[in-house]
Amino acid sequence: MFVSTPRLPAEKEYLNCIRCGLCLSVCPTYREFLSEAASPRGRVALVRKVLEGSLSPSANLFEQMYACFGCMACDNICPVGIRPADLALAMRQIQEQTHPSGWKQGLFGILLSKPERIELATLPLRLYERSGLRRLIYALGLWKILPTRLRDLEAMLPHLPQRPLRQSLKKEVYPTGKKRYQVGFFLGCAQNLMFAQESAAAIRVLARNGCSVIIPKETVCCGMPALGYGRSDLVIKQAQHNIALFESVQAQVIVTDCATCGSTLKDYGKLLANDPQWAERAAQFSAKVRDISEFLASIPLEKPQGHLKARVTYHDPCHLRRAQGIQDQPRMLLKMIDGLEFVELPEADWCCGSAGSQLITHYDTSLKVLRRKIDNLARTQAEYIATGCPGCQMQLNVGVRRAALDVQVVHPITLLDMAYTLGPSPRKNRGKRRRE
Ligand code: SF4
Ligand code: SF4
Repeated sequence: MFVSTPRLPAEKEYLNCIRCGLCLSVCPTYREFLSEAASPRGRVALVRKVLEGSLSPSANLFEQMYACFGCMACDNICPVGIRPADLALAMRQIQEQTHPSGWKQGLFGILLSKPERIELATLPLRLYERSGLRRLIYALGLWKILPTRLRDLEAMLPHLPQRPLRQSLKKEVYPTGKKRYQVGFFLGCAQNLMFAQESAAAIRVLARNGCSVIIPKETVCCGMPALGYGRSDLVIKQAQHNIALFESVQAQVIVTDCATCGSTLKDYGKLLANDPQWAERAAQFSAKVRDISEFLASIPLEKPQGHLKARVTYHDPCHLRRAQGIQDQPRMLLKMIDGLEFVELPEADWCCGSAGSQLITHYDTSLKVLRRKIDNLARTQAEYIATGCPGCQMQLNVGVRRAALDVQVVHPITLLDMAYTLGPSPRKNRGKRRRE
């Protein structure tokens, strides 16, 4: 196996910290706990002590590494180039490779290595929706008597598709007009299993704008969940599989509508840089990857004819804004829509508290961070909040429900798709809320 021992961070990755404290001002976990150990600077100091041998690794120490939201706000602000978020991830890898937690190792290996397996594992969720049980629970108001935590987990779920999108999509979707681009579409797990309507809309928008869209059905998870839980060995296998798969597709670019997938796919080049067999292939793959908003903003777009009268705000996913430097493009696409009133969200780039699974693993902290986001959202009086990350969408669903806000959480490209299909006459067009 390419990675058999954990890579220890080099001295320059932690030694240069000048303890200026700039990173404290942007860290959501520090903001909630006001404790040095829960801050980026504190995490860097802990890593340094462990690597220098003056502190024995303990459960509490690793807990601080898992409590990090990976929002990268600290990485971006540090004046000397320390990357505390990366250090926290590196420590998780050391923990998992030196003290593997058996069930997690097995679960990731089994579920994430084949798309059919995760589709099967999530079948009960689709049956919950398909059987009508979910509608009944809402019609009778029974969701109100669920235990709070279970109610929050239920609220995370969007309207679930009848079946995974992978099973209903054609291998290639042809452009509606003249073909201008050949695009490979990376269908992420969450999009396939939960946000199928959004990815279907994304493919429609691409086809409408001259793209022939090829959707390889055998993609596996991009690797971010495994990376977050220290399974670098599994990430490498997933990366190699996806790279080889897209090599068989003659695509000019590889587009994804998931911010987290996009940031991970763009990192395959770095991940495999030291592997002589894969370095060049991985670099070529990563160079082709584009977030859908990034790609659409880079080509001549058909102006949507529809008039969508709605007040819309936008939340920056950390994996889009910080990991990929994409912030203007989604806003620009939204502002193309006639009738749409765009209102900027205060602290739009502050983490929403999702970080993939923090609502499950660090429930209280995740909710505290979310509350700040939702307070800001309420101030905008928006009817829609758009964001291009499924994890953020699920987290915002919880916040909107908790605060009883009449706000729909959508992918920005879904609004663009609506504008393409709506007529030109001004009208208020709001999708039916799923629980009404
Ligand atoms: S990690 Fe960077 S920003 Fe934070 S205290 Fe150290 S030098 Fe300052
Ligand atoms: S990544 Fe985010 S949560 Fe983690 S230390 Fe940095 S600022 Fe704090």
